[in-house]
Amino acid sequence: VSPAYRPEPRFFDLGPDYADAVTAADFPQTILRLRNDRAAAEVGLETLTDAEWIAAFGRFAPLPGQPGPIAMRYHGHQFRTYNPDLGDGRGFLAAQLRETPQAASDRVASDRPRLMDLGTKGSGRTPWSRGGDGRLTLKGGVREALAAAMLEALGVPTSRALSLIETGEALERGDEPSPTRSAVLVRLSHSHVRFGTFQRAAYLGRRDQIEALVEHVRALYHPQVAPGDAPGLLAAIVAASARLTARWIAAGFVHGVLNTDNLNVTGESFDYGPWRFLPFYDPGFTAAYFDQTGLYAFARQPEAVFWNLTQLAGCLKLVAEVEPLTDALNGFGPAYIRELRAAFLMRLGVLSLGEAADQRLLDATLALLREGGASLRWEPLFFDWFGGFASSARALSGPRARIYQGETFDAFRFALMEHEPDRIARLEHPMFAAREPEEMLIEEVEAIWSAIDADDDWAPFEAKLARLEAARAAWAFG
Ligand code: AMP
Ligand code: MG
Ligand code: MG
Repeated sequence: VSPAYRPEPRFFDLGPDYADAVTAADFPQTILRLRNDRAAAEVGLETLTDAEWIAAFGRFAPLPGQPGPIAMRYHGHQFRTYNPDLGDGRGFLAAQLRETPQAASDRVASDRPRLMDLGTKGSGRTPWSRGGDGRLTLKGGVREALAAAMLEALGVPTSRALSLIETGEALERGDEPSPTRSAVLVRLSHSHVRFGTFQRAAYLGRRDQIEALVEHVRALYHPQVAPGDAPGLLAAIVAASARLTARWIAAGFVHGVLNTDNLNVTGESFDYGPWRFLPFYDPGFTAAYFDQTGLYAFARQPEAVFWNLTQLAGCLKLVAEVEPLTDALNGFGPAYIRELRAAFLMRLGVLSLGEAADQRLLDATLALLREGGASLRWEPLFFDWFGGFASSARALSGPRARIYQGETFDAFRFALMEHEPDRIARLEHPMFAAREPEEMLIEEVEAIWSAIDADDDWAPFEAKLARLEAARAAWAFG
């Protein structure tokens, strides 16, 4: 490890009632498929040799100062049905470490280094595996890595895929052609403490555990909240969740499975299964085939996150009065609208001009997306108009010119024109010269997977990640 590596296994501060020690599966093979050195450098792990990397993230030899893998205990509502038999069933917390000061200030000037988790997916069975095999399909690992890279490029707070190692097993999965290849993923995430972690303590009637969790989460992740102020902590989680949800919407992202065990206390997005990015505005767009009622459809995500927050608030009733908790919850709506304005401004590349003008721009953008329907693709809209009018000539002479006509578009253009462009310099990036936006459509994801599965050709996957890295640098969304 590099001198910047700072182990800090703080989940153990909580004592033995929140997790179980586990061991990783002994895989027949460990073939390195993805090594995210930029993410690794944020926690001092970029200096590992490939052999050391595989030992750490394929064999799970403990990193220095780390006590060894633990499967976290939690419950959760799955599609609104309470399940007390959850917990880390195919993953574990492998390590906790402090971000470097450089990584923190690169994100936000003067930000404090955050406590980060290395969490696994597909690392073997645990006491919470139930009937499952504890494994991850290689396709699932590839998909999680792609989702995280796209979301990061779009400025969505997200876990990153740190490592993907193919593990040489043949997995049976009912919903995919079987057998299919296996992998183990390691993600770098700002906490894996879920709403469901609180739900488990509340279900067990453990006021003491709720108190301990409140203090743990407050001190480590929301230190601006006063000790013992559970409603204040809820308000902080509400604010972070509202920002996350708004940024998913502006990214055209559908998470797919917004169960209470898939939302964490930092408002950082994680656990990407059946996710999809919208090709165009479609409020009812549903990512998971098993979501038959559309509970987690694109435009229902704010409602889903709010519902989950109400469950978290319910747990906090064990240690706080109802009224301040309700007040904290009621902050979600206004915060979400504020964050949505900011997120769309960011995507359009313009600066805020005050609430009224920003709201006009949001309304006009949504009206345009709604009216454009299937003929107005999501990413190209933002790409053409990124930087305000700097790119308008390109848009009006390009292949999508037909869309950019009519009253709805004029209203959008007018609302946009009111605003100052933000950092036109970005438009000089080579990405913009190429005149094509980065998208993440299902057809491309399936094509990438076919190349890997049929020909063991990793070039399209690597090229896609490289283009997303270029997009991230060009867009520079904070
Ligand atoms: P998810 O929908 O991916 O968030 O998973 C929900 C729950 O099912 C979590 O407790 C997982 O750990 C567990 N789980 C999912 N897939 C498997 C598997 N193949 N083996 C064991 N547990 C699993
Ligand atoms: Mg999950
Ligand atoms: Mg999952």
